[in-house]
Amino acid sequence: MKANTYHLWTIGCQMNEADAWRAAAMLESAGYRPVEHARDAQFLLLSTCVVRQQAEDKILSRLKYVEELKRAEPSRTVALMGCFVGFRPGAGDELRERYPFVDLFVPPSATGELARWLAARTGSAEENTDPDGEPPPLPESLSGGRTVRANLPVVLGCSHACAYCIIPHRRGPERSRPADAVLAEARGLAGRGVREIVLLGQIVDRYGLDLGPGAPRLPELLRRVAGVPGIRRVRFLTSHPNWITPELVETVAGTPGLMPYFEIPVQAGSDAVLAAMRRGYTAGRYEELVAGLRERIPGVGISTDLIVGFPGETEAQFTESLDLMRRIDPDMIRVAKYSPRPNTLSARTMPDDVLPEEKERRRVAIESQLREMLEAKHAPRLGRTEEILVERIEPGGRRYGRTPDGKTVFVDACNAALGDVVRVKNTWTGAFSFIAEPA
Ligand code: SAM
Repeated sequence: MKANTYHLWTIGCQMNEADAWRAAAMLESAGYRPVEHARDAQFLLLSTCVVRQQAEDKILSRLKYVEELKRAEPSRTVALMGCFVGFRPGAGDELRERYPFVDLFVPPSATGELARWLAARTGSAEENTDPDGEPPPLPESLSGGRTVRANLPVVLGCSHACAYCIIPHRRGPERSRPADAVLAEARGLAGRGVREIVLLGQIVDRYGLDLGPGAPRLPELLRRVAGVPGIRRVRFLTSHPNWITPELVETVAGTPGLMPYFEIPVQAGSDAVLAAMRRGYTAGRYEELVAGLRERIPGVGISTDLIVGFPGETEAQFTESLDLMRRIDPDMIRVAKYSPRPNTLSARTMPDDVLPEEKERRRVAIESQLREMLEAKHAPRLGRTEEILVERIEPGGRRYGRTPDGKTVFVDACNAALGDVVRVKNTWTGAFSFIAEPA
């Protein structure tokens, strides 16, 4: 174990990653530096996700390993943060009994607990870390290697209460961050080399609704973030079909720097299943929304999420999901097998009656259809020129970037720098990525 070192272990969504980066940034400004292996670290930071049982199982097995590390070296500090902890006051108390080797329980998107611990621990941290203020958004260690793309949370929590979803129970009610704080953070990120910002919220389109009349809504926030000097590209996620406004669509269509890309989970293709999920729209409405986006923003990328094996989902209802996906022709589908989560409406009132092997069969059916659809959709892009932002340089020198509509591209024989926007010509197209050369 090395003094003043930390190790970050993180799973889950972009919001979790953003929370974890903040906590890591606080540790770094208090003098800790990152190490590759948990066994070498003095401070173990675990950022957790519980959206499905599978994620929770990963945490439990990680905790076993961490417990061993702590037993071997009791002067280590273990901090558990994120959705496994939850936002409710006292949530840590119950966990403390089960996991006595954990020193700190940090709720999602709330680093005050960590700030107080650092302030009490190190005199120097007190100068750097105000428990009630905004923590630094990006760890030095990351921006030193140059982080081109960063997530910026703008709506914390969620108040929608879909029948299956644990997030509102763990991340608390919806609250928007003030636009000034978001913009200050965007400027800070740009100053540290970030060129693409992804604004985050569970229903990001609802940004500002809780801030009262006169407060900027998402379209205005997007325009302002896109105007921050140094920022080349802005995206936002996740959208809910009911909250995408015509103004938002016009803003994306007409603002340079705003990428033509939407992540709009549909979750099911059957109206009966959507109603049981409490999603608040029909498959037909979703289809109309997507048709409208495609018409107004030619070339728009549309990514969606789908749950298979929701309680009571029949074979015919599942086929409606397959059919809807054919009609929507999305650019990506993240398929999840339904997993009952504690205290959610579906776990309390609906039997988890689709067998595991049947859920798996449905997942595979969606994924193989997706692969086939994407191969066909991408084939005409062979030989075409794309514009990408270089986000990463791969070990062999290949550049990695994304097109405006969100396609992944690997570029051979390219010496563009990180953060450059370059034009490249596709030499190969597959379902999930392209290979290209400089145009
Ligand atoms: N707020 C977004 C939305 O409107 O759905 C995304 C939140 S969630 C972190 C990401 C995805 O996890 C969801 O879109 C859903 O497909 C999936 N998910 C959530 N709860 C689930 C559950 N109980 N079982 C399986 N998948 C689930």
